[in-house]
Amino acid sequence: MQFENSKEFAQKLDQQDSLKSYREQFLFPKVDGKEVIYFTGNSLGLQPKNTKKYVDEVMNDWAELAVEGHFYADKPWWDYHERMAKPLSKIVGAKSSEITVMNTLTVNLHLLMVSFYRPQGKRYKIICEEKAFPSDQYMLQSQVRFHGYDPDDAIVEIKKRKGEHNFRLEDILSTIKSVGDECALILIGGVNYYTGQVFDMKTITKVGHDVGAFVGWDLAHGAGNIELKLHDWNVDFASWCSYKYMNSGPGNASGCFVHERFHNKKDIPRFEGWWGTKRESRFLMKPEFEPMPNADAWQLSNAPILSLAPYLASLELFDEVGMDALIKKRNLIVAYLEFVLKSIDAEVESTFEIITPSSQEERGTQLSVFLHGEGRKLFDYLMKNGVITDWREPNVIRLAPAPFYCSYQDMYEFGQILKKGILQKSVG
Ligand SMILES: *Cc1c(COP(=O)(O)O)cnc(C)c1O
Repeated sequence: MQFENSKEFAQKLDQQDSLKSYREQFLFPKVDGKEVIYFTGNSLGLQPKNTKKYVDEVMNDWAELAVEGHFYADKPWWDYHERMAKPLSKIVGAKSSEITVMNTLTVNLHLLMVSFYRPQGKRYKIICEEKAFPSDQYMLQSQVRFHGYDPDDAIVEIKKRKGEHNFRLEDILSTIKSVGDECALILIGGVNYYTGQVFDMKTITKVGHDVGAFVGWDLAHGAGNIELKLHDWNVDFASWCSYKYMNSGPGNASGCFVHERFHNKKDIPRFEGWWGTKRESRFLMKPEFEPMPNADAWQLSNAPILSLAPYLASLELFDEVGMDALIKKRNLIVAYLEFVLKSIDAEVESTFEIITPSSQEERGTQLSVFLHGEGRKLFDYLMKNGVITDWREPNVIRLAPAPFYCSYQDMYEFGQILKKGILQKSVG
């Protein structure tokens, strides 16, 4: 398609957008009475309008039924979390039995590492990407120290080449092969939070298994953004937060995937609690743990219903739309944003540099842009003018036009505001 950087063209794309009505289903913050252009759906997704209904339902059940709500609410609380497995399985490419929802992301990765980081003899190393999300770095360091190793020795980082912004698959695979039988676990962010690079999870998982390691993925930036086939890729485990592309609200519950190969096992190392024991006998309060026959065996506590309710509301929308439609719009709107950025770059003779891979297979909803010579002032100008982006030092803005609620006209308007901001600065 031949793009044009004009309002008319952007509006034409909006008219042809099969998801355009979904914008109405989300609540936008306002600046000067006008809805913002929201680029931070990769950090905290907007609130769907149906969320309040789901939360109110729980509040009402609590008021009217109190403890009886566990069993007699319309959506009883004792198995509330089980409702999420099916819609989530379609989003991450899994069987329903391989999904569970609990806790928050860092907590879940720690819990999953109890099962999947089992250093022994010379096999004790963890491979991750360099400059992983800080929480993942702290998590991995504390895990290896917990097992008595030195992070400098036990954590092997995959490096980027000098002067390059993204990882090369060949370098990832050669790192895995060189660590070989010393590698206990590979744990990488499936979509890099800084650049938006999407990793070839299928190939990396296979090569990781070939050297005898477990392979898990942090899908904070993957779930609800890119096509995932966790079951078919034979991934051992994965976890994601729900408040980024999945619009579940601040700090809300996280999803986990555990491949069915590991289900129905009593001998797998795992931290256990009563919500992981068989539903039929859970309330018989027996002394021995009988695992749920699926990923729910990793559950510990009774579920945080007020944290799950918004996630269930959001999954209703995902189920209605489906990932195929979201990905189709995502590809077009990200391509259009890229075009707008390049047009503005040419007009102001600036030197933006998009550090996200340019191929569709290697990127999702996010474009990370290096603004050479621009400072924090530009970011503040954007915020003041109703464009919410995310600034990372030294001068990168991350732009994630969530296909659910961002419009093509947003992309055009953003370009105009950006241009004004840059020109104003160089004039004033
Ligand atoms: C956002 C993000 C997290 C956040 O972890 P929480 O435990 O939910 O605070 C972790 N890892 C990555 C890669 C992220 O992008």
